[in-house]
Amino acid sequence: MHEMSLAIDLMELVKRHVPPSACLMTVTVRIGPMHGVVSEALQWAWSAVTSQATWPQAKLIIETPPWRLSCPRCGRLWEPATVDEHCTCGSVHARVEGGDEFALVSVDVADLDASVEDRSRHEAENQVGLGTVV
Ligand SMILES: [Zn+2]
Repeated sequence: MHEMSLAIDLMELVKRHVPPSACLMTVTVRIGPMHGVVSEALQWAWSAVTSQATWPQAKLIIETPPWRLSCPRCGRLWEPATVDEHCTCGSVHARVEGGDEFALVSVDVADLDASVEDRSRHEAENQVGLGTVV
């Protein structure tokens, strides 16, 4: 089950973005459909990892960008219902575009030192690729 190793690697990556006085609240990742990650399995794995970690309340939000196909004959780019959909021009040779991203989008933390909960959003610098861990 590679979702468990993904969750562990994701937590290791996220830890680097959480200041020492802060509490991790929400992690948002974007996972393309080419990765074959089962969202429910990753959510389960994340719960298992966070229950062992400093921030058991940390939520995981998984964004899944849609499939996109491009047609080499007419140049059309579209989001199909199925990955084997044919182009409206009749071409059956559409190519899958993208869909292989695995990126840490954002890390939301709450500052424990503030008297009033002061939630601040720390955007991960650019997109931190996790592609090498898969
Ligand atoms: Zn076409």
